Amino acid sequence: MPEWDPILLANVHRPNSERIDTYLRYGGYEALRKALKLSPEDIIAEVKASGLRGRGGAGFPTGVKWGFMPKDAPVKYLAINTDEGEPGTFKDRLIVERDPHSILEGVIIAAYAVGANRAFVYIRGEFFLGVKRWIKAISDAYQHGFLGKDILGSGFDLDVSVHRGAGAYICGEETAMIESLEGKRGVPRAKPPFPAQKGMWGKPTIVQNVETLTNIPHIILRGSQWYSTIGTEKSKGIKIFCVSGHVNRPGNFELPLGTKLKDIIYEHAGGVRKGRDIKAIIPGGASTPIITGDKVSTPMAFETLQAAGTALGTGAVIVMDETTDMVEVVRRITRFFVHESCGNCFPCRIGGHNMLMLLEKLAAGQGSMKDIEELEYLAKGITGRTFCPMGTGMVEPILSALRLFRPEFEGKVAHH
Ligand code: SF4
Repeated sequence: MPEWDPILLANVHRPNSERIDTYLRYGGYEALRKALKLSPEDIIAEVKASGLRGRGGAGFPTGVKWGFMPKDAPVKYLAINTDEGEPGTFKDRLIVERDPHSILEGVIIAAYAVGANRAFVYIRGEFFLGVKRWIKAISDAYQHGFLGKDILGSGFDLDVSVHRGAGAYICGEETAMIESLEGKRGVPRAKPPFPAQKGMWGKPTIVQNVETLTNIPHIILRGSQWYSTIGTEKSKGIKIFCVSGHVNRPGNFELPLGTKLKDIIYEHAGGVRKGRDIKAIIPGGASTPIITGDKVSTPMAFETLQAAGTALGTGAVIVMDETTDMVEVVRRITRFFVHESCGNCFPCRIGGHNMLMLLEKLAAGQGSMKDIEELEYLAKGITGRTFCPMGTGMVEPILSALRLFRPEFEGKVAHH
């Protein structure tokens, strides 16, 4: 496997990496200087040509999203989603805590491109250090003339503020985040209209994930041509993979999209603990379908993971070795989602609760074959019938585990 020198994570291990002087010493804000000399249309065209897709889980093409922003709207907003809460995902937190200026530079370029003069950072409430780092970075950027009025003499104005969430997973969904930013209870809105048409306080709003924004300065500095040669045909560029579970060296690893799972697990994450075999992998965070360990040669890209019956999601790889109790894995994941259900629609609110009760019975060795059938019936019934994607995300691990590891569920019944 070819060596890869980190680009997005190049700064995070440097001493005082969060400080603006460190960021400037290593070429920080040069991309902004270049971007402000380009027209907003040229920047959007460059981001489109790069092939960058959102890194928050949905994978929507970033430049296309920016192009949806109506040109003639008098007030437009940018919202920065720092509400990272998917189990297994811890990449955005690293960037916010260790290299906040790399996000902020992407924020300013994005705001200039879409014509927003106001940006709102929405950060998960538990990220105490992240909140401090965001606030300090923004304050230093104002002092250096990267924020405020007439940024670097360009005539472009931008104000950025930080808003803490209260620890609700659903506020990572863009419309629930907008509701929360408006000071209301964080529940998803119906789409359409999409935020780019009608977002915060009814104004066009682009919501963008942290990791996505850190790619922007590099695309502007080095060009879309360079960026689009990294990765695969349908999955361009660089991705930060968060690896956790039964590996010897869990952590964040920045690699080109299309890197094989086995290279991430064995070359970068130090292999599986005690040299055991891999039983199962969750490749994209807890809401993506589980795959079996023999799929370890799958490249980590949107299209290849879809072909393998799962999804890239946030790129959070959870590795489970041969000793793992899959019923218990699914019970724990379901417990998380049931706790985080916003309660707005009944398939997720009541169906989730009923599935959890069945899983608890089964995990305790007190379930029956009928309970397994009912679990599957409920999970299939919930799929695609919820108000937001979280309901479907909740059943993906259950249905995939029932498909791949059904004898384990039945074994729990036999044991009883
Ligand atoms: Fe809320 Fe329904 Fe979404 Fe569940 S699926 S989080 S209840 S809106």
